[in-house]
Amino acid sequence: MSESSRQFGTKNLYRPETLAVRAGTARSQFNEHSEALFLTSSFTFDSAAQAAARFIGEEPGNIYSRFTNPTVTMFEERLAAMEGGEQCIATASGMSAILSCCMGLLKSGDHIVASRSLFGATVNLFGGILKKFGIETTFVSATDVSEWSDAIRPETRLFFLETPSNPLTEISDIAAIALVAKKSGALFAVDNCFCTPILQQPLALGADIVIHSATKYLDGQGRVLGGAVLGNKKTLEGVYQFLRTAGPTMSAFNAWVFLKGLETLKIRMDAHSANALELARWLEQQPNVMRVLYPGLPSHPQHVLAMKQQKTGGGIVSFEIEGGREAAWRVIDSTRMLSITANLGDTKTTLTHPATTTHGRNTPEQRAAAGITEGLLRIAVGLEAVSDIQIDLARGLNG
Ligand SMILES: *Cc1c(COP(=O)(O)O)cnc(C)c1O
Repeated sequence: MSESSRQFGTKNLYRPETLAVRAGTARSQFNEHSEALFLTSSFTFDSAAQAAARFIGEEPGNIYSRFTNPTVTMFEERLAAMEGGEQCIATASGMSAILSCCMGLLKSGDHIVASRSLFGATVNLFGGILKKFGIETTFVSATDVSEWSDAIRPETRLFFLETPSNPLTEISDIAAIALVAKKSGALFAVDNCFCTPILQQPLALGADIVIHSATKYLDGQGRVLGGAVLGNKKTLEGVYQFLRTAGPTMSAFNAWVFLKGLETLKIRMDAHSANALELARWLEQQPNVMRVLYPGLPSHPQHVLAMKQQKTGGGIVSFEIEGGREAAWRVIDSTRMLSITANLGDTKTTLTHPATTTHGRNTPEQRAAAGITEGLLRIAVGLEAVSDIQIDLARGLNG
């Protein structure tokens, strides 16, 4: 492999949309123009001595696709360049990225401070599974920085949040929370799934680690699962060792899909954002809609912070309808085009009732604390004409 990617790895030399197309392109002996898909579980050696040198890490190179694969490496280099991270570790899913991060960095007795407004499975991972292994989590407000400093204990090792949050689109002040984390000595991880590096770069704002569910916008067309952990090499050493040993690895095929997805990420995020803003403005004018949550609207409680921290409001719009669960389900069941699915970040607009789907396994207390009411609906705005999305929603809204 010739490493034509080297010149694109340097921080800040190129815009993220350029890096999305050009970084992480390593060509094989055939000089292919498009990134090659290497479907092989293992790699061969020229001699016993070379095998030995590879295994003890004296000679760089691939051994086995549980730890490295050239197609996965291209994806990792490309996303690392876009996020401004020294290293990227690709994983099988977004949840395995979060799990790998915790398993690699924490031990029994450690403490996490996490936002209360997290993806449902992340809440269950922290509050349930990690707790079984002696790692405790204190859940705090996504928006009140003082709760983060008040929650710190001597054994606090990790701060974790997502911004904008799912599904309420609350905005956490990354730079302010980074300062609190730094003072306490804890590492600070941001799940950047909703914004992607096109709209927001948490490492530049002071975060130590960025998490991705590549399943969402990085793919962008709802095809495959994947995730990533990004940060500097020293911080992520334990995460890499966990991945190498335990194997929650990204498949080469999925990495190839993500490489192609990244190439159109900028134009897709711009289009998702423009559609979402137009739809949010329209929803605000509908009589049965009690409130619309979209960071790009001036009515959003953290609009000013959002516009400082992100390039646009993103592609997710949530709104609360009068009449609780019955009314919310009626909107969903009256649609003819929108996809009734919990996935997001797709070209196809998706419509979800968080209280009974993504957050259905959380306790009613957890849902109430996170502000997920029975009348709340989440739209992940796709790339269809906004007028067609409006027609599909209006039927149930006005019924
Ligand atoms: C979907 C999602 C995850 C989990 O990712 P998977 O790829 O489904 O495992 C984590 N965080 C956020 C914000 C998500 O939307």
